[in-house]
Amino acid sequence: MFPRFHQRYLALPQRMRAECQPTPVAEPRVVAFNHALAEALGFDREAFNAEQAAQILSGNQVPEGVTPVAAAYAGHQFGNFVPQLGDGRALLLGELSHQDGALREVQLKGAGRTPFSRGGDGRAPLGPVLREYLVSEAMFALGVPTTRALAAVTTGERVYRQPPEPGAVLTRVASSHLRVGTFQYFASRNDVEAVKLLVELAIERHYPELAGLPEDEQAMALLDAVIGRQANLVARWKGLGFIHGVMNTDNCAISGETIDYGPCAFMDSYHPETVFSSIDERGRYAWVNQPVIAQWNLARFAKTLLALMDTDQQRAIERATAAIEGFSDRHEQAWSDVLRSKLGLTRDAEPEDGSDLALGEKWLEVMAAGKVDFTLSFGELVAAVEPGADETPLHQRFNSSDALDAWLSRWRERLHAEGQSSEVLRSRIESANPLVIPRNHLVERAIRAAADQQDFGPFETLLAAVTQPWTSPEDQSLLQPPLSNERVLRTFCGT
Ligand code: AMP
Ligand code: MG
Ligand code: MG
Repeated sequence: MFPRFHQRYLALPQRMRAECQPTPVAEPRVVAFNHALAEALGFDREAFNAEQAAQILSGNQVPEGVTPVAAAYAGHQFGNFVPQLGDGRALLLGELSHQDGALREVQLKGAGRTPFSRGGDGRAPLGPVLREYLVSEAMFALGVPTTRALAAVTTGERVYRQPPEPGAVLTRVASSHLRVGTFQYFASRNDVEAVKLLVELAIERHYPELAGLPEDEQAMALLDAVIGRQANLVARWKGLGFIHGVMNTDNCAISGETIDYGPCAFMDSYHPETVFSSIDERGRYAWVNQPVIAQWNLARFAKTLLALMDTDQQRAIERATAAIEGFSDRHEQAWSDVLRSKLGLTRDAEPEDGSDLALGEKWLEVMAAGKVDFTLSFGELVAAVEPGADETPLHQRFNSSDALDAWLSRWRERLHAEGQSSEVLRSRIESANPLVIPRNHLVERAIRAAADQQDFGPFETLLAAVTQPWTSPEDQSLLQPPLSNERVLRTFCGT
């Protein structure tokens, strides 16, 4: 049933990873399995056997020929450097070939202690496992680069948290788990040779177009490429009202995929300073701060590459600094593109003064003043395309604000400069603005039903809805923001 694993990470020098066996669990049971992803990874659907799968996906049995490893990495957590973090509760089984031709790493998250566990138990509670499953699969369906969820397995054991929770293991699939923190681990130990191997691996896996460059150009080119992907990624997050919540450098993937769904959440009512994470007391990782934090993380990444960039370190610093400074413009470009498409506009028809970004930002300002729902407000623009359209829903949402009227007329003027029929404009707006996002109160409700009552029904219903984000679900309540007594304003790291 399981395809053959490659063992590319295992082939790295020993100091870069630790071999480690999973710790068996009492009673593994598959509670979610992603058949579509499994098939793309070469699993035989006909041969799927839940009991056999549970043994492997819980770590009770290691597939033949596989040596699991925990990767070494470091990282800045909330701005403070920790020289050793590493996979403290995740084990890499190896890589599988995806039908798109590239490899994917397959990790068991929550499979027991590793040499990097420090004080932790190596385990994962069911709640955070289901949160990661729901949100990562929603992100994938929304077209945002992300790690994915192949399976969730309950362990039949409790994990000792406040209060104790059922234990679970998530099978996570990623283009790779290389992080800024992976590079930092070795750079901080002056292990230039290891950093060089990481550059080669990153290029081979994520940026094969750079492989032909002269060796002394590769580190700089990699930095530039990663900057580009992160600049785009964060713009995509912002366009969905997504807040990652823990943008430490160890959670910043070199592939440009969203990784580590801990205290992440989507906002309901829009405010740029929104934060959910219980440990983010100062709002470091608030919605609006995500681009500058990404840039800060990339500057840490650049630092790890300096020794490879140029024998003249002064020149290396100058080039790296210029690249990092360039993040701002690249992100602004990506963010303008996101806003423009959400408003039904195209770059081609933008006025010469480039005012679409200002138009988009003004809309956000009006939304913030009205404390309105991010997702629904964008969606309701569809009905307001034509002059004289029925704007009742928007007016109700915004409490009939003058600012709304002023903005709508400005937007409509710009919209009609596109020279397209209303039908085309409406369908553009529809396809840029999802109906369904995994709203925090619904995620929380699905988690509680599963963890407290062994009822996976709400999880399954929500998963089905968020993986079809452009389709109106049967249960329309999944589209609605929480009532005031349903709001969930705090999320937790999931450790
Ligand atoms: P995170 O905040 O999820 O990015 O995790 C930061 C670090 O803590 C990583 O090195 C994790 O492997 C480690 N960690 C998180 N939870 C646990 C746990 N339950 N047991 C061991 N290590 C953990
Ligand atoms: Mg992490
Ligand atoms: Mg985490």
